[in-house]
Amino acid sequence: MWLNFGKSTQMLHPQSVETVPLLHPIFEEKKIEVSMLRLDQVHSSVSGNKFFKLKYNLEEAKNQGNSTILTFGGAFSNHIHATASAANQLGLKSIGVIRGEEIDQTNPTLAHARDQGMHLHFISREEYRKKNSEEFIIKLKDTFGDFYLIPEGGTNPLAIIGTSEILTQQHQEYTHICTSIGTGGTFAGLALGLKPKQILMGFSSLKGEFIREEVQQILSKNVIQSVGKLDINTNNHFGGYAKWTPELIDFIGWFWKEFRIPLDPIYTGKMVAGFFDLVQKDQFAQGSKILLIHTGGLQGNAGFYHRTGIELPIL
Ligand SMILES: *Cc1c(COP(=O)(O)O)cnc(C)c1O
Repeated sequence: MWLNFGKSTQMLHPQSVETVPLLHPIFEEKKIEVSMLRLDQVHSSVSGNKFFKLKYNLEEAKNQGNSTILTFGGAFSNHIHATASAANQLGLKSIGVIRGEEIDQTNPTLAHARDQGMHLHFISREEYRKKNSEEFIIKLKDTFGDFYLIPEGGTNPLAIIGTSEILTQQHQEYTHICTSIGTGGTFAGLALGLKPKQILMGFSSLKGEFIREEVQQILSKNVIQSVGKLDINTNNHFGGYAKWTPELIDFIGWFWKEFRIPLDPIYTGKMVAGFFDLVQKDQFAQGSKILLIHTGGLQGNAGFYHRTGIELPIL
């Protein structure tokens, strides 16, 4: 049986994304060239790397004849926000299993998800920890019926194929590619798309060295042996995942003033701050051509205001 939900289409369509040069006296002084790939512009409501992580997953769900997507996330999750929009656009139902029952269930991210028709299912933090167990998934299927499962953060083999398409022909000339790391799925996809002699630099938003092992596991599970060089930086977490400091907020404000490009405090702000730190410490040889990937996440700036009262730039 082939149902056609009015506005449904088969695939997510990207808008064109710009690669913009960033001009600044410090780059001149250090004799490096820096550009930013504006993935935050790829889609009006399926932003940044999440567009690439979701696109083949949703196509696969459709091919399997599965009309419901189920996934997991925190209260301000970019992944939840993007999945709700993308599923709605493709005429798929979506269920978001959200960590924490005590949270404000009306925050801007969850309000958007609900607007897009996502059914929100709140569970305790304790229960949330079991989310990868078979028993827990069976219980969810008892409650909701059959669904196509996308893990928290959206990282799986199809997401890695999707993110391997972020870098294109026009990015071959860059010596360094910089991106932020959450689960490491995007980093793995970029590693797959890397050219010989290119250096991929990931900046972790999480505190701790465990991320190196985690990325290694994603790479080996997906049989990715990059032809370029991989490097992970763990010094710019600003206190840990979803944590922040006044210095980070000041940096995001400064970057907006200098370049008129908004950053988010969870991922891109930390990555770009980490990058400037390395520039100041002369970690890039003269003549380096560096591409910073803006992975999106700007929906979270409204949530950040909701949480802290601090207004961050948005477009
Ligand atoms: C989800 C997200 C990331 C992290 O991506 P992973 O594939 O989980 O490493 C980075 N930046 C933004 C803006 C995100 O929303």
